[in-house]
Amino acid sequence: MNVIPIIRPFLGPEEAAAASEAIASGWVAQGPRVAEFERNFAARVGATQAIAVSSCTTGLHLAMHLLGLGAGDEVVVPSLSFIATQNAVRYVGATPVFCDVEEATQNISAATIEPCLTPATKAVMVVHQGGIPADVKSIHALCDPLGIAVVEDAACAIGSTIDGELVGKHSDLVVFSFHPRKVLTTGEGGMITTSREDWAERLRRLREHGMSVSAAARHGAKSPVIEQYLEMGFNFRMTDIQAAVGLVQLSKLDVIIARRRELAARYQELLGEIPGLTMAQDPSFGTTNYQSFWVVLPDDFPVGRDGLLQTMMDNQISPRRGIMASHLEPAYAGHPHRPLPVTERLTRQSVILPLFHTMTEDDQDRVVGVLRDAALVPASA
Ligand SMILES: *Cc1c(COP(=O)(O)O)cnc(C)c1O
Repeated sequence: MNVIPIIRPFLGPEEAAAASEAIASGWVAQGPRVAEFERNFAARVGATQAIAVSSCTTGLHLAMHLLGLGAGDEVVVPSLSFIATQNAVRYVGATPVFCDVEEATQNISAATIEPCLTPATKAVMVVHQGGIPADVKSIHALCDPLGIAVVEDAACAIGSTIDGELVGKHSDLVVFSFHPRKVLTTGEGGMITTSREDWAERLRRLREHGMSVSAAARHGAKSPVIEQYLEMGFNFRMTDIQAAVGLVQLSKLDVIIARRRELAARYQELLGEIPGLTMAQDPSFGTTNYQSFWVVLPDDFPVGRDGLLQTMMDNQISPRRGIMASHLEPAYAGHPHRPLPVTERLTRQSVILPLFHTMTEDDQDRVVGVLRDAALVPASA
């Protein structure tokens, strides 16, 4: 029996050829391909600017740095997220304030953020968890009048939509990931989108050591350019080899999302008969790319989450536990927080099922069969 992985990146000979061309060109660090990837990405999501970085984590770190956050500043974040979300706040010395999430979307909302606001709140980090879009418009309606910045962790959300528009243009700082667990991949990599020209310029400088002229611009100059270092920056650059791959991946976005949504709909249909089981689904105001297809087990499910994970692995299926909760991790031991009942139930009861472009219906039937057996639902039902 073949092993069914949680995800398999949809990379083919086109990506390999693009990477080889970049290598053959002699320009492998940040250069023309990164610039082209940025232009295409911005155009695609409807932002005026995109700034490529080495990962979503470094992009979130830059966003916190750009906002000038530091000691004494509070940033409201979900605990229910990959730990990079909250760590980005701590990198600059600010304090993550954990807020709870909505049961149906596993996302924070204006209602869950509001009780966490204090005079020290400087920003809110909204995560589109597993690709399910968060209700960013009502979060802006809450935060904008209070002067609280809204940063979107869209690591999982390329191709997800809000009121028919792609995630990436609803806030002044939106950060994406191209890790292989996400929908598009460059191996490692990230992208920040913004429609503020001044911020785009500064982000480009900050990712490249604070240099006044980029290496690519210096290379093209006809006379000596003595660069200056205008402020302390970082090396958070993407390479041109990665961007070459990213350009091809971006051109496949619609195909990838269509297939993911097709497979998700089939899961929903086949698993719908399991009593009490809830699944990832579109919110009322948008669509998800199903970066993660999770199921939430009812409390009276015949086996616990870990038992189910084990049974799946025994059947050559590679699922994952649901989204982690950072406040339960040793890295956040002792970090004060309000009660997070929905977060704790979701992280305890959720499992993420395999879903990838080349997954077959047979693969999917195997996953469904194991879940139905575990639920004691007859296979013929
Ligand atoms: C994957 C992920 C990240 C980290 O992305 P990298 O590109 O690996 O740094 C951050 N936030 C969320 C919600 C993620 O799922």
